[in-house]
Amino acid sequence: MSSYVSTHLRQFAVERANYCCEYCLLPQSVSLHKHEPDHIVPSQHGGITKADNLALACMRCNRYKGPNVGSFDPLTGKLVPFFNPLISCFGNFAARISRNEDRYAKPLTSL
Ligand SMILES: [Zn+2]
Repeated sequence: MSSYVSTHLRQFAVERANYCCEYCLLPQSVSLHKHEPDHIVPSQHGGITKADNLALACMRCNRYKGPNVGSFDPLTGKLVPFFNPLISCFGNFAARISRNEDRYAKPLTSL
């Protein structure tokens, strides 16, 4: 299975993330290295090269995560999946933060 990311798909991931690393939120504009699309589930684990399996990552996050999908909790010994920025409870967090959608707390009720 190929992990090649086409120019079109790469640009889609960059724009969806609003040019920020989707793991640590580092803007591309302040990074020495170009952010790159990361396979959330790496191809060697069956991950497919498609938009919903790609997250824009800074070099540090991408190298740190590597081809892993999770880690073992030292207390329970259970395999815990890594943070997935596209399905986290924050939604597409990087894009929302960079657009200031989460700048202010929003009430959940009318009170
Ligand atoms: Zn990062």
